Amino acid sequence: MSSATSDGRLPPVGQEHSSTSQVQLDGEITGRPIERGMSTSHWLGTVRSNPLLDYRSSEELPSKADMIIIGSGLSGALTALSLLESSNPPKSLVMLEARELCSGAIGRNAGHCKPDIWRGFTEYSKLFGNKEALRILTNEGETRDALVEFIESNEIQCEIWNGKTMDMMMDEETANKAAENMKAFLAAGGDARQVDITLNPVQAEKLSRVKGAKAIYASPASTLHPWKLVEFIIKRCLKLGLQLHTLTPVLSVDGSDNDWTIQTKRGTIKTPTVIHTTNAYAAALLPEMKKTIIPIPHMCNLVYPPSSHSGSKSLKTSYAVIYKEGLYTINPRLNADGCILVGGVQPNQHHLEAYIEEKKESRQFDDSLKDFKPITDSVKDLGTNGFEWNESQNLKTGFSVRYDRSWSGIIGLTKDQVPLVGAVPGKSGQWTSCGHNGHGMARIFTCSRGLAQLIQGAEWTKTGLPKCFEITQQRLNGELYRQNKL
Ligand SMILES: Cc1cc2nc3c(=O)[nH]c(=O)nc-3n(C[C@H](O)[C@H](O)[C@H](O)COP(=O)(O)OP(=O)(O)OC[C@H]3O[C@@H](n4cnc5c(N)ncnc54)[C@H](O)[C@@H]3O)c2cc1C
Repeated sequence: MSSATSDGRLPPVGQEHSSTSQVQLDGEITGRPIERGMSTSHWLGTVRSNPLLDYRSSEELPSKADMIIIGSGLSGALTALSLLESSNPPKSLVMLEARELCSGAIGRNAGHCKPDIWRGFTEYSKLFGNKEALRILTNEGETRDALVEFIESNEIQCEIWNGKTMDMMMDEETANKAAENMKAFLAAGGDARQVDITLNPVQAEKLSRVKGAKAIYASPASTLHPWKLVEFIIKRCLKLGLQLHTLTPVLSVDGSDNDWTIQTKRGTIKTPTVIHTTNAYAAALLPEMKKTIIPIPHMCNLVYPPSSHSGSKSLKTSYAVIYKEGLYTINPRLNADGCILVGGVQPNQHHLEAYIEEKKESRQFDDSLKDFKPITDSVKDLGTNGFEWNESQNLKTGFSVRYDRSWSGIIGLTKDQVPLVGAVPGKSGQWTSCGHNGHGMARIFTCSRGLAQLIQGAEWTKTGLPKCFEITQQRLNGELYRQNKL
């Protein structure tokens, strides 16, 4: 059975898949986003009348552009904004999106911006050494700070909640791993001042309201409606001259250095500069990424809490509930509708992986999957045994828990667990920020700004990003991954 910690490791936040045994990391499978039958996420389901969903700046595609961005998720939107607001904006910038605006992973995720400021230390240090591991973790905190500052200073109505998320260790093994990890993090010079630690199980249960909690590590995080954030950014970009074309799948990018022809379903465009923000689908247009990016479906469930956990008694923070068999992420949508989004790599994840494996040539990039029973059963297990949402525990009056529905999205895993940012090796004029694993919300804000700087001529050091995020031929060959035998 696959498990978040079956080999005794505590996975970094958002990289839980990388430590499962079932994911076939050498599949080399890729594909474009499916064009019909995709499942409906909570985010996309709550903006159905928004005219940006199918927006096109003109009836016909332009025949050329200074720069073209492929993909309208958070990576594409923020890269566009950073370019357009720079001192040297492109004369013409076109964004091509295969489906509706922001309908990839960011429009289907669990809405959690949860920087990993300590948990991934041991894993990252095995891969990249202590110094770079600390740099990765620091970058995550900086990314959330930048995101929150942007949202608050622009008064963006995206239902943001800021607080301390609880990482709950649910058995002795994970509690011990967490303690060892924290010790190693501190010994390497890590700063844990923002982490509140509760090691007493009685107190941990009381604080979390989750039965069986052994220890809690609470650290700063935010939750938000990601589509509404992207909507704000895109509206600002349109004012600054962005030409947006949704429902325009890109079929290929051909040509030679700084002279590229983009073939779409609606015609061709020529450009010297192509920016791939296609995340899990990147290798469909850049086959050199096939060895490095693995697309894989992931589920998110929407749960209406019972009256015992509603109103004044609602959960007061977000969670990761970590068992050795798997992990749940819990986003109780505190400044919004109060429904609870449950994601993560759960104890029944191996059933999902087995289902994908049966027909991986198409299922690896197919987000039509919804209401996948084994995952919903896992969610119900947590409700019954963790939050004690069983009928007998519910109030005599009021609502019972409702496990409403679930949807899927495609995560872009990278073999070395960090994103690929920068100039595509051997293809002058092509750039990317992709492979954000299950963790884009705590990475993209700084990666997209950094990418825009690189495109405009900056050196890597100017971006402030960890060096290991830089896309290199070595990473595309999977060399680092093999050296470390992950
Ligand atoms: C169920 C689920 C839950 C998750 N939960 C969280 C979470 O709580 N916190 C977190 O940090 N991360 C989470 N993630 C991961 C996170 O959503 C991603 O890391 C992030 O969305 C990546 O954003 P992006 O803009 O780079 O890519 P995407 O949002 O995937 O955008 C890529 C876009 O490119 C378009 N595109 C691709 N190929 C083409 C083409 N050929 N032509 C034109 N357009 C194309 C796609 O349609 C898509 O709109 C979750 C992911 C899933 C699936």
